[in-house]
Amino acid sequence: MRDNKKLWKVEARARNAAMADTVFGRIIRGEFPCHKVYEDDKVLAFLDINPLSDGHTLVIPKEAAETMDQLSDESAAALGRVLPRLCRAVIAATGAREYNLLQNNGRGAHQAVAHLHFHIIPKPNHREGLGIGWPARILDRDAAAALAKKIAAAIK
Ligand code: AMP
Repeated sequence: MRDNKKLWKVEARARNAAMADTVFGRIIRGEFPCHKVYEDDKVLAFLDINPLSDGHTLVIPKEAAETMDQLSDESAAALGRVLPRLCRAVIAATGAREYNLLQNNGRGAHQAVAHLHFHIIPKPNHREGLGIGWPARILDRDAAAALAKKIAAAIK
């Protein structure tokens, strides 16, 4: 367990160094400008530079995690605490009642910036905001039971 923690810290340090140069790392350090809407010691939120709709906001941890699975519990808690408040603020400011909360992990999953971020994307009408392809399949009952067990067993 102790070795795992050590390894995790070493990996986190390496990631921090590798990610220092992402555009969001630079925004956190004040090297790039942004239209800031919120900041605390662990979280920063600002407007997306290419919005899908008015009020499209990005919420990022200051910790240099690339994807959700790499994020510490502390930063996850800080993000979770503030996300509902930010969603309420975006809704109040834009008047859009509906919105998507989007978080992409990995290039193949449409992540362009290698610093974890949530999108809050107002959906004011069917033309603006997020459009989603949703190629759903039918869940196979036996395979699902085995897979659910496998995932549950992998939770650490
Ligand atoms: P994703 O595809 O989830 O990685 O989304 C990255 C988002 O970051 C895109 O919506 C971009 O428009 C946005 N973005 C990239 N550079 C900046 C920047 N300098 N300021 C604000 N948003 C940015």
